[in-house]
Amino acid sequence: MAEEPRSDCLFCKIVAGEVPAQVVRETETTLAFRDINPQAPTHVLVIPKAHHPDGAALAAAAPEIAADVLRETGEVAAQEKIAGSGYRVVLNTGTGAGQTVFHAHAHVIGGRGLEWPPG
Ligand code: C5P
Repeated sequence: MAEEPRSDCLFCKIVAGEVPAQVVRETETTLAFRDINPQAPTHVLVIPKAHHPDGAALAAAAPEIAADVLRETGEVAAQEKIAGSGYRVVLNTGTGAGQTVFHAHAHVIGGRGLEWPPG
């Protein structure tokens, strides 16, 4: 079940318009905005508007919105013109994997060569 917006959640504040963000796409259920600390020429975050702590929790609680987020990553890639050259969608899950904001978000990263495995 979706949680209520959390007053201590940065991305809930972005959804509410209380913290500024450079929004590139918006749907009824999702928001996509440029990462404030980009790791590539294109680095956009796609989030559900509803608060879920990470991607796994989102998929378990609201699979239709998880699908919306995944669909939007493709729309962002097309809009940013990185679909043809290849791009990466990343859901850092847990502090050990580098998750720092505990509101589900998919990083869409592209516009340069991307190595595998990631660091
Ligand atoms: O996966 P992780 O939780 O580390 O990703 C959080 C991302 O949110 C970071 O890439 C960080 O640069 C970004 N961020 C942002 N705008 C903020 C605060 C953090 O784009 N105001």
